[in-house]
Amino acid sequence: MRILILEDDKAIGASIAEALELAGFIADRETDGEIGWYRGETEGYDAIVLDLGLPTLDGLTLLKRWRKAGVTTPVLILTARGSWEERVEGIDAGADDYLPKPFQIEELIARIRALVRRAAGQATALLIAGDLTLDTRQMRIAVAGRPVALTPQEYRLVAYLMHHQGRVVDQEELVEHLYHQDFDRDSNSIEVLIGRVRKKLGPQAIETRRGFGYVIGADAP
Ligand code: CA
Repeated sequence: MRILILEDDKAIGASIAEALELAGFIADRETDGEIGWYRGETEGYDAIVLDLGLPTLDGLTLLKRWRKAGVTTPVLILTARGSWEERVEGIDAGADDYLPKPFQIEELIARIRALVRRAAGQATALLIAGDLTLDTRQMRIAVAGRPVALTPQEYRLVAYLMHHQGRVVDQEELVEHLYHQDFDRDSNSIEVLIGRVRKKLGPQAIETRRGFGYVIGADAP
């Protein structure tokens, strides 16, 4: 799950990024409105944290442009405390959630988790596919009730496929959602990663659809 943070206050942006990474997300940061707009329009993010006061292009205009261009990525806006007008305007412009500054980082993370989940059609924080369970709050994965220790990258892979369970996900999409933008996209790292996860979760956990991609929970009701 990859999140874009658009925040021109570098200290706030860095603390959000750090907390998101600790919560199992990949976090990319931008401080400029126009550049952020471009990245949000051209890259596959699972959610976006958007500060409204940004240089070169303000957050509200930017959000309206994304929505007009058909970008449906969930957006959480950071607003000024007490400014209900700003929140109403933001939601009307296409924001999915908001948080007034200053905020508790734990609340921001919980809201991002919920946005990502809902966008993927998952209603609760505990995801289940066959005998595989993923607790998104604890970042814990279990097979038939037995906890399995995964590296952060292995966790991100399983989390992405569990969020999109039943759907075949190709390599390109996995790379886009599991790695930072500067990652070398020519490598065969997804195959290697899949192999490592199968060793830990069992060979049946992730199904390969040759020529198409990978799927978890294809036969789930
Ligand atoms: Ca700002």
